[in-house]
Amino acid sequence: MAARRPLIAGNWKMHGRRAETLALLAALKESLTVEHLHNREVVIAPPFTSLEIATQILAGSSLQLAAQDLHWEPSGAYTGEISAPMLKDLGCSYVLIGHSERRQYCGETDEHVARKVAAARKNGITPIICVGETLEEREKDATLEVIARQVRGALSGQDKTAIASLVVAYEPIWAIGTGRTATPAQAQEVHAAIRATLASLTNQPTAEAVRLLYGGSVKAENIDNLMAQADIDGALVGGASLQADAFARIARFQ
Ligand code: PEP
Repeated sequence: MAARRPLIAGNWKMHGRRAETLALLAALKESLTVEHLHNREVVIAPPFTSLEIATQILAGSSLQLAAQDLHWEPSGAYTGEISAPMLKDLGCSYVLIGHSERRQYCGETDEHVARKVAAARKNGITPIICVGETLEEREKDATLEVIARQVRGALSGQDKTAIASLVVAYEPIWAIGTGRTATPAQAQEVHAAIRATLASLTNQPTAEAVRLLYGGSVKAENIDNLMAQADIDGALVGGASLQADAFARIARFQ
């Protein structure tokens, strides 16, 4: 089986002006040393307005930067949007795509997600593709079907080589920001199903190479049990990523 490098990503959402970005990143740099990071990747996704200052403060550190979204066109008359070349220019190595809040509040569809994935890839930025079911879908026993549809939709048009280097984050919507985490067994079941969907789109070795993150009320108290699951390769962390101590502990999972 391919060794998958664990990845812990912090999604700051619409939090933090530049001064707060500086303070939080300075604290994280202190708590997460080269020794902690030698066998894992830690990525921070601040708001667009803090990316430039974040690049400056993270220069020379192993912490990496992500954007929270992008537009699929490289430039043009798209007022308010930010393109992949712009993110590359700011030093982003990752970008979140299809977060449930964007699907819910900004009308983002699987087709938009697929176009964004293609744009990120074309510009050498690794997409972290977010998928997840609502509570209603889970209660109707439709979780695996919804997730398979979102994964297939996001990857339409991508070849095997491209798929191997992508990251997929499973974030049950009912667990985001609610304090209610999927149990490790619930998360593992969906992660295994995502890997099976990836294998059906490509082949087993490719599916085994893709990193699958869990997101939804991840905390210092539950990260170790989640990371012990066979198909959980990391976490996408919202609320707890805004507290340096909590996020550093998550990133130092056992
Ligand atoms: C998220 O928004 O990606 C997330 C997982 O949030 P939280 O950790 O706060 O549930």
